Amino acid sequence: MKKLFFALLSCCFAFLGCKEKTKPSPLKDSDPLHAMEKTTPPTPNNEQDSEVKVIPISHATAVVEWNNITIYIDPVGGAKVFEGQKIPDLILITDIHGDHLSVETLQELDTKKAKIIVPQAVADKIPEEFTPQIDVLNNGDSKERYEINIEAIPMYNLREEAKKFHEKGRGNGYVLNMGGQRLYFSGDTEDIPEMRSLKNIDKAFICMNLPYTMTVESAANAVLEFQPKQVYPYHYRGNPDVSDVTKFKRLVHKGNPNIKVVQLDWYPEDDF
Ligand SMILES: [Zn+2]
Repeated sequence: MKKLFFALLSCCFAFLGCKEKTKPSPLKDSDPLHAMEKTTPPTPNNEQDSEVKVIPISHATAVVEWNNITIYIDPVGGAKVFEGQKIPDLILITDIHGDHLSVETLQELDTKKAKIIVPQAVADKIPEEFTPQIDVLNNGDSKERYEINIEAIPMYNLREEAKKFHEKGRGNGYVLNMGGQRLYFSGDTEDIPEMRSLKNIDKAFICMNLPYTMTVESAANAVLEFQPKQVYPYHYRGNPDVSDVTKFKRLVHKGNPNIKVVQLDWYPEDDF
């Protein structure tokens, strides 16, 4: 019996020892498997890479990152407000006003590798040095750059007293199609039919300020019609009052609790 026990025990050790020996030895550089791992390129567009990141800078100005592409939306405020951001591959400008177009900011930033997408009215105000980089898109046009399809959407006022701020045809809102996602930046507009009829928007950046764009009620009403998955209030500092984005959120949730309202800090210098 004792003999059998020791026999079993030694068998066990032999097995364990054997198991130990079969453990893969650390790979050396010369091993074919290791070499293969080293040369396999990273999978493009994996979940991590294709995640869309939006960084609010201020008011209407944002940085969008996707798949190693960096997009500046309405860069204003000087180069200092973009400190720490990657240099832009694409710059999208919506309109001629100072909170959307700043020639000084374009000149201060490192824009050498950037394509600049603008409506004609903006192109007319940008100095010649930028001409080779400019793609003019007018309302209804679209263009593909770096696997991103950019659609120019109209933006304009509807209220009689506000029509002077943004006449139809001058500025562009933009829809960006990237990595299967659709982002909409409204630019300065009211709840126009072209916004209300948008389809399959994942993230919608919607302006709401008076007297220049629209009320939170109009903004919420339009959002409830085109039903983006997420809505980001932006461009909500008005004159003299800042729009009530909490009310906007309440109105959207009341109408459709499935639409997520995402509040970013668009005014880092202010209390609101
Ligand atoms: Zn504006």
